[in-house]
Amino acid sequence: MTPPPHATQRRSPLTHLFHPDHLDDYRTSLALGLDALSDAMRAQRGPATGVLPAQAAKPVVDVDLDRPLGDAAQALTEMRRLWLDDTVWFHDPAYAAHLNCPVVVPALLAELFVSGVNASLDTFDQSVGGTFVERHLVDWTAARIGFGPGADGIFTSGGTQSNLQALLLARDVALAGRSAGDASRLRVIASAEAHFSVQKAARLLGLGDHAVVSVATDARHRMDPAALSAALDGCKSHGLIPMAVVATAGTTDFGAIDPLEAAADLCARHGTWLHVDAAYGGGLLVSPRRRHLLAGIERADSVTVDYHKTWFQPVSSSALLVRHGAHLGHVTWHADYLNPHDASDTAHPNQVDKSLQTTRRFDALKLWLTLRVMGPDTIGDYVDAVCDLAEATHARLADDPRLEFAAAPELSTLVLRYRPDGLSEDDADRLAPRIRATLYERGAAMVAKTKVDGRCWLKLTLLNPMTTVDDVVGIGTLLAATGDELAAELREAVA
Ligand SMILES: *Cc1c(COP(=O)(O)O)cnc(C)c1O
Repeated sequence: MTPPPHATQRRSPLTHLFHPDHLDDYRTSLALGLDALSDAMRAQRGPATGVLPAQAAKPVVDVDLDRPLGDAAQALTEMRRLWLDDTVWFHDPAYAAHLNCPVVVPALLAELFVSGVNASLDTFDQSVGGTFVERHLVDWTAARIGFGPGADGIFTSGGTQSNLQALLLARDVALAGRSAGDASRLRVIASAEAHFSVQKAARLLGLGDHAVVSVATDARHRMDPAALSAALDGCKSHGLIPMAVVATAGTTDFGAIDPLEAAADLCARHGTWLHVDAAYGGGLLVSPRRRHLLAGIERADSVTVDYHKTWFQPVSSSALLVRHGAHLGHVTWHADYLNPHDASDTAHPNQVDKSLQTTRRFDALKLWLTLRVMGPDTIGDYVDAVCDLAEATHARLADDPRLEFAAAPELSTLVLRYRPDGLSEDDADRLAPRIRATLYERGAAMVAKTKVDGRCWLKLTLLNPMTTVDDVVGIGTLLAATGDELAAELREAVA
């Protein structure tokens, strides 16, 4: 019997496809992958090897993508050489740079299903029960915030997208019943220490860079309510429309939590949308000992929570929660082929109606398995542990005369610099980035840098509950010793 023409024309094996017939191959592949991962993790001797951009680029760009290696073992060996062996490990106790968390195993288990089944959460007919898994988590998070039964929300790719969608809703609510020309009068009020994604969202929404009004912060880097009140009044007296106040619950640098009750009072008085950006501080929702820090969050119109920061989830996992679910209708669009407008079809709920994305990963499943295996208190304990770690380390390092802290910790970050007696502020400024680069190049520790009042400071972001006070004191001591070393070089260069 002659084979059908398509079979004779086909040159490639189909065994690469995820299919019940290929599960043995998949299992073998996964075992190889796990071996490579554990080899790399056992060989790892610090948070990073200190590879520089040019060195990292070379082996990658040299790969000829038109010539496959043909098998997973070789491809994994190559991948290790050109990336994994030099990667940054967020579980390492000397990693204390950005808001990257070590991830929990139940979420990794979920990844197997997220990617393998590859459900897309845009419509019920691509996700079935997944739609309800996501909805249940949204409802649960909304209840933790303290929103009432009318609340709703949607999983997003990250805090940047959550903030963008929140401001889009606020803009459309503010413009309802107004003319398009009023858009140029819209203003978003945020503290000077709000995340840059607020500024970016204003630009993407066509509001212009000038639309974000920056409000002063107090000594603890929290929005000053008097300044917020003045900004709201100022908008009104200039004929501008304050469409939203963004209060940050956990600023990226200092972990500062803006006064949520005062912001809610002012927003209520002015009829302004209150968005709380809790991308960082959202983990406090499950903290057994620090939940009170978020008091007032329940009065927000919208809240950003990044599960991929303080909930120990793999990237991506974030959500936007809204007090009034109906507001999500501002992003609804009906496509005939996907989610046709049919009021009678409530039996087929489509998450795409609430999202800026169409095809969308089933990230919710990671949080689901995490909660079902570990429970929220365990996540909250981890959050408390990293906040305790910041406090205890600050108390111990505050005695080191070579180190200066910009503020006491609010959540789990420490902002500090090397500045022993007699070192000028300009020299401290010069040394900070060099200390950071040296620690990285030696593979000794990873810390971040930031600016405070125009000066360069270093930042330790602590998100690893396994890291001990001694570990972080060790980073601080190393930072000071490296400062001593580089300061000596600086003096020699001048002499
Ligand atoms: C990290 C962060 C964001 C941005 O979130 P992504 O998930 O990185 O897009 C927004 N706001 C604050 C306060 C953050 O710390």
